[in-house]
Amino acid sequence: MAESKRPSSDPKPSSGWGFETKTIHAGSPPDAASGAVVPPIQQTAAYAFPDAETAAKRFDLDDFGNVYSRITNPTVAALEKKLAALEGGVGATCAASGHAAQILALLPLLDSGDHVVAARQLYGGSVGQFTYVFKRFGWHSTLVDAREPINIERAIGEKTRAVFLEALANPDGLVVDIEAIAKVAHKAGVPLIVDNTLATPYLLRPREWGADLVVHSTTKFLNGHGNALGGAVIDSGTYGWSRVPALTEPCLAYHGVRFAEKFGKLAFTAYAHAIGLRDLGAAMAPLNAFLTGIGIETLALRMERHCANALALARYLDRHPKIEWVSYAGLPDGPQKKLVAKYLPNGAGAVFTFGVKGGLAAGKALVESVDLIQHVANIGDSRTLIIHPASTTHRPLSAEELREAGIGPEAVRISVGLETVDDLIADLDQALANI
Ligand SMILES: *Cc1c(COP(=O)(O)O)cnc(C)c1O
Repeated sequence: MAESKRPSSDPKPSSGWGFETKTIHAGSPPDAASGAVVPPIQQTAAYAFPDAETAAKRFDLDDFGNVYSRITNPTVAALEKKLAALEGGVGATCAASGHAAQILALLPLLDSGDHVVAARQLYGGSVGQFTYVFKRFGWHSTLVDAREPINIERAIGEKTRAVFLEALANPDGLVVDIEAIAKVAHKAGVPLIVDNTLATPYLLRPREWGADLVVHSTTKFLNGHGNALGGAVIDSGTYGWSRVPALTEPCLAYHGVRFAEKFGKLAFTAYAHAIGLRDLGAAMAPLNAFLTGIGIETLALRMERHCANALALARYLDRHPKIEWVSYAGLPDGPQKKLVAKYLPNGAGAVFTFGVKGGLAAGKALVESVDLIQHVANIGDSRTLIIHPASTTHRPLSAEELREAGIGPEAVRISVGLETVDDLIADLDQALANI
């Protein structure tokens, strides 16, 4: 009897659970077939149909059973349920990477010739996607300084179909007024998409401030151990998909199915699987979903320590004579303290930039002088990682774009890990002494 009271045996319990309980139990009850406590990796490309009739129904989206792992896979589905529960959404779609998730988010919203307004404070790879590659799909974008919501409002035009920003911006850990920007987007009738990679739902849930879609690079803090690429789009269930033609008009790829009519609140998520993943092919691998799910089980504990270590390093750097500036939103007297108090009461994340006196040469020298801290193009690992954006991640950006993104030649980005903080400080100390 006690068995049946296990929280995981309840098929729909997660809304009443606390955050930590969801990280462990949401979407991952013991395996129905074997009783395995850790849900197994379903390492298969395809699934046997019980009969021809069911096979036909699955192809018509009248039966939701699995067909092929490019579209759905049980291990990936378990992670999707966990992420939807953590972000408070109605459905989630995982993808091969964060960048793939960004394309899945925009695919139903933008036709060729349409437009998206994005914050210019974005991960360098996203600036590249929006500025150069999306243009080839006919998706135009305007990137503006999102610190002033009025800039977003001014950039919205006739053809604008979405607003996109990062909850905590990579690389400098900037916080923007999400609630005010959501109001601007909704006044114009378009959804707000928030990339929540750096904050994670432990620190901030964009849905609570008006985000209609939340995207993630799960590669970073959600996975937390730097061992699997992945991305996700979570639908908050707040935007009326009946305003989006791709979801209301008959879909010829599925015998004229109208996603909004057939799937209601799940229209976006159904489209992201049935069209986005099926036709673009950027599916998450089952092993990566498994590793990411395991990582999420310790998300709350890890984020607490990531933030504590980051604050300690930011304070140390702020006092160091060879450091010109530190851009960590969590510094007690920083210019962002009001926004941090509102949006990030549990910590301002663990990725930030700082400027080394001596410009480009000093920035490069520092990343070459650290020893324990690793010189790596990644963030959100248990290891502390450092990089010099101007010569690496932000290299494709022009001098003007670099200035606009707030990346000076002297800027160094750090993603603070989970090591003993004194060891991290000692490593920076010896590196700074050497330059
Ligand atoms: C890394 C990153 C991405 C891209 O994610 P991938 O998993 O590397 O494709 C997008 N947004 C942010 C904020 C990132 O840090």
